[in-house]
Amino acid sequence: MSAATDTQTKICHGCMASLPIGARECPYCGQRQLTRFEVGVERVMQKVFSRHAAASRALFFLMVVYFLVITVDIVMHPDYGLVDALLEPPGDLVYRWGAHLRGDLVWWRLITANFVHFGVLHIAFNAYALRYVSPYVERAYGSALTFSSFLVLGTGSMLCSNVFGDVGLVAGASGGLMGFIGLAAASAHRENTALSREVRNSMLRWAGLTMILGILVSMSGTVGVDNIAHASGFVLGVGFGYLLPTQTATGFSQLWMIRGSRILCALLVGVLLASFVFMMGASVSSKHQNACISDLKLKSWGKAEIACAMAYRADKSQMISYHNYILVSIINGQVERARGLCVEGRRRFRHAKRPLSFDEMCRSIDG
Ligand SMILES: [Zn+2]
Repeated sequence: MSAATDTQTKICHGCMASLPIGARECPYCGQRQLTRFEVGVERVMQKVFSRHAAASRALFFLMVVYFLVITVDIVMHPDYGLVDALLEPPGDLVYRWGAHLRGDLVWWRLITANFVHFGVLHIAFNAYALRYVSPYVERAYGSALTFSSFLVLGTGSMLCSNVFGDVGLVAGASGGLMGFIGLAAASAHRENTALSREVRNSMLRWAGLTMILGILVSMSGTVGVDNIAHASGFVLGVGFGYLLPTQTATGFSQLWMIRGSRILCALLVGVLLASFVFMMGASVSSKHQNACISDLKLKSWGKAEIACAMAYRADKSQMISYHNYILVSIINGQVERARGLCVEGRRRFRHAKRPLSFDEMCRSIDG
């Protein structure tokens, strides 16, 4: 088939017949067809990611590139070097790049934390797990659902860890990967052949071993292992594995499965990008916040006002942004602005469970 005719035809997902690109329904099997636009998007994606294991490749790429970015940031920090970055990355910098703090629920951190790793051993372990398990998941559920599942399962496991775990800094892909092991086990169980039962059993053994080792390592107290994220990721994965539609060797045969999985994936990629934008905002803000605090300590009120304003503008979701900007505004005689910030801050944090740190200052200037 020449390239010219290739752009004019598409393959029916129901019966694999070659159809004109604009065909709405297959004359052979009656299945409704993807539109010309959808086929075009699919072909672009295949060019970008290659036909096979697109989700696994994308996840691997994200994990590794993000690790390199964080490593460079740590190495460039005056107090830290390459050894810190690879073996024990400093908590404040890992937090800056989107790790999440248990007990402090910030929605976008539950997403970004899946791509943050504590050093080279941590990422090597998870990359190996990804390499081993994701082909099973992708074969059963297709690339779009595989990528979507990682985000949903990883985020779900982070949420469980945040709600049920003790205070601590959490990051890593292992919750989502334990979800993948659950998905692979469930799909193999559903397939129910002699070979797939072997796959299922090996997945169950793997999950069991990971849990036992994780608990032993935690008890030894040498390295923190997030056993709650592991367990909840696996349980969620098994549940999803039963609910999600599985595909055949040629992909999904029903239009709604193809469309549904792609729309879900596109939406979740949007959420993922948004969470990284929030991460950058918080990161920029914390940089200015550090400058703001040190200028306040040095009583450089003018410089402090600029830094505190920048920190406030970059991330208004933090109480400290309001606190310091109100403080420096009062010191510099900008009472009107401080009052405005008080009104805005009180409105923004009206549902906060902890007391407003800036409330006393605000009461001192209240009309
Ligand atoms: Zn057909």
